Amino acid sequence: MNGMESATEFASHFGFNFGRLVDGYQADIGVFSRLVGSPQGNLETGVVIQTKGFVKTSGGTFSREFLDTDRCRFCPTCVATDVGPTYRLHRAYGRVEWMLKFIHTCPDHGIGLSKVSGHRLKAADFSAQLRTRLDDLERLARKQSSRRPMRLQNYVINRLRGGEPEGIWLDEFPLQAAAHFTQLLGAMSRDGREPDLEEFEDKDWIEVAEIGFDIVSRGRQAVETTLEPFFDFKTVRRKVSLSMLLGRLPVELLQRLEQPGYRDLIKVLENAARWRYPTLISELPN
Ligand SMILES: [Zn+2]
Repeated sequence: MNGMESATEFASHFGFNFGRLVDGYQADIGVFSRLVGSPQGNLETGVVIQTKGFVKTSGGTFSREFLDTDRCRFCPTCVATDVGPTYRLHRAYGRVEWMLKFIHTCPDHGIGLSKVSGHRLKAADFSAQLRTRLDDLERLARKQSSRRPMRLQNYVINRLRGGEPEGIWLDEFPLQAAAHFTQLLGAMSRDGREPDLEEFEDKDWIEVAEIGFDIVSRGRQAVETTLEPFFDFKTVRRKVSLSMLLGRLPVELLQRLEQPGYRDLIKVLENAARWRYPTLISELPN
């Protein structure tokens, strides 16, 4: 509206740093709150605090591996609605939900999220990023909506938005660990002990998320039943560990023990395995 090139330039005229606002610096959030006449606490649900390895949102903390922070992901229909028929670009804004890799389609329109692989340094400047895809916007907004069930995605969004808990076993775990475990369990259920996760494409993640959610939504007992066949493991060794029995699933969890929830998930798996292998060697560090 003011003919400025970027949000960074605009913000500098008002005495705050746009990049720092996006990264969740209290001082810049404070200046911004005063400018828009809103108590700082009211902005809390929209604040995203970025630190070196993690991104903290009001719905949970996520390690960067689960977020697309360098590329803008967006729903073309949401954006088309934001900007309106006269293309008032400054009205479009990014949704925190779109950043999460657990989310594949727009929760409101059901269409696949589009990506801008724009300038990395301007990643946070949604409006500036969007300008690079403007020509495509109308075509993208006509994309077919997906009729596939997206139950893990719906579950994640509900928790991010602070909705009523679904009352399932998964609720016990922090959101990232819960969703990650569900995907891995689905991958194991589909592909066996050693799923080739590195080769997974979006469609694979969507498929294993659905398979995994079908299991975890039926509770801990259903998870243990899924693991049962993997415990039929022929070995001459006397010392058996989770990684030997379940392969990639515990390996992935063990790599992230310093993050909330992962240690508890390993304990669940160990307890399930101990019915068959009372002398199971724990891989958890003391
Ligand atoms: Zn949308």
